[in-house]
Amino acid sequence: MDCIFCKILNGEIPSLKVYEDEYTMVFMDIAKDVDGHMVAIPKKHIKNILDCDVDTLSHLMSTVKKVANYCVDKCGYEGVNLLNASDESAGQSVPHFHIHIIPRRRNDNVDA
Ligand code: 5GP
Repeated sequence: MDCIFCKILNGEIPSLKVYEDEYTMVFMDIAKDVDGHMVAIPKKHIKNILDCDVDTLSHLMSTVKKVANYCVDKCGYEGVNLLNASDESAGQSVPHFHIHIIPRRRNDNVDA
């Protein structure tokens, strides 16, 4: 399958992996726009939330919560932005479901 995130999952494209379990993976976004910008994906190739079954969504959000809590509890961040674009009309550029996780601190001047 010609999907960048599937290629990251199977190691064809290198990534900086943050977390992985049976159903999900989290890795650093290649964009150097914001300190700590990560993306969380399901291992199953699903285009976006509109196609996503509830079990997969539940696994993904459980992973997002783990990583968000880790950012705050262990890495000195105070909050997170969670962002998702579902469909090209909404700005989705990679057609494999993903949640952006952007760790935040007060007055960090991030425009997320
Ligand atoms: P979207 O625009 O679909 O919401 O987000 C796609 C994200 O994937 C972008 O933030 C983009 O920087 C990231 N991205 C695209 N290609 C790669 C890649 O090859 N590696 C990584 N780590 N991130 C990528």
